[in-house]
Amino acid sequence: MAIFATHDLRTHPRLCPPVGCAGPLHEFRQQFHIPPGPNGQECLYFCGNSLGLQPRTARAAAEQQFTNWQNLAVEGHFRGDSPWMNFHESLAGPSARIVGAKPVEVVVMNNLTTNLHLLLVSFYQPTATRYKVLMEGGAFPSDQYALETQVKLHGRQPDDAIVELTPRPGEHTLRTEDILAKIEELGESLATVIMGGINYYTGQVYDMAAITRAGHAVGAKVGFDLAHAAGNIPLHLHDWDVDFACWCTYKYLNSGPGGVAGAFVHERYADQPELLRLAGWWGYDETERFKMRKGFRPMRGAAGWQLSNGAILTMAVHQAALALHDAAGAWRRYAARASC
Ligand SMILES: *Cc1c(COP(=O)(O)O)cnc(C)c1O
Repeated sequence: MAIFATHDLRTHPRLCPPVGCAGPLHEFRQQFHIPPGPNGQECLYFCGNSLGLQPRTARAAAEQQFTNWQNLAVEGHFRGDSPWMNFHESLAGPSARIVGAKPVEVVVMNNLTTNLHLLLVSFYQPTATRYKVLMEGGAFPSDQYALETQVKLHGRQPDDAIVELTPRPGEHTLRTEDILAKIEELGESLATVIMGGINYYTGQVYDMAAITRAGHAVGAKVGFDLAHAAGNIPLHLHDWDVDFACWCTYKYLNSGPGGVAGAFVHERYADQPELLRLAGWWGYDETERFKMRKGFRPMRGAAGWQLSNGAILTMAVHQAALALHDAAGAWRRYAARASC
């Protein structure tokens, strides 16, 4: 498989913008390790959709946690420069900025497919008459298998419950009008819409605001798998009124192979402890977590979906990568205002 394109950057005029508005954003390229091509030449890397490049800050971030572990052992949960007990909290703000959310709506935990399952437990709760799921035909396999097995978990047949959207004959992408028409047609039989924010195969960006509005109009829940969207395009999950979303961080967010993933649950569910979920101790109200009592009482917001204490080594890398994205985002917003 060809992994790298091997253009020589110095002779590529469009990649060497004049110093000015494009300058600082362009300089972020220097913040990543870019492997050389087969003959040692400088490369363009086009595989951020599969595994993002390593930020130059990643190794030190992980090493810092090795040092804390070495020097503090169990005390590292409560002491040091970044106590592990609250480490996940430091990721909510920068992650929220990436997906257009409030910090209370975002949590970093597990991996993408795990988060998809956890959120479907809460947002796909079929009844006798409202049990259909709408998704893209040919969705990423993990999403297909997740949906297939969620449907079976509720004792239903995937062929009956899952409705797949396919492009018109001779076309390769879905028309928004066709997506909206299908949602309307399914009407009160539709329990949940779950689509990619960007289709992993075609690169099509879906109109998430319109899809969410249409889903809500028929009383369905609407969620997005943002594997190819988070860190790639501007997102406004809160304003779009999306119910739930999840994403991985090793693609466009440069947080390392198999790195920790993200989840979004809209603020309107933040104070609904009775909303069904699969629970673990880390989602328990943190003011009482260590009383080790019977009876699950969730944290407010997305944090209430956590199961386990955080995977600190991958979270540390994610934190370093998010800092870069935050800086690039701040620059982009500045440049947009200055109409560069
Ligand atoms: C990359 C990708 C996945 C991968 O799932 P993991 O749980 O991170 O292995 C799932 N869904 C989509 C749409 C993807 O693009």
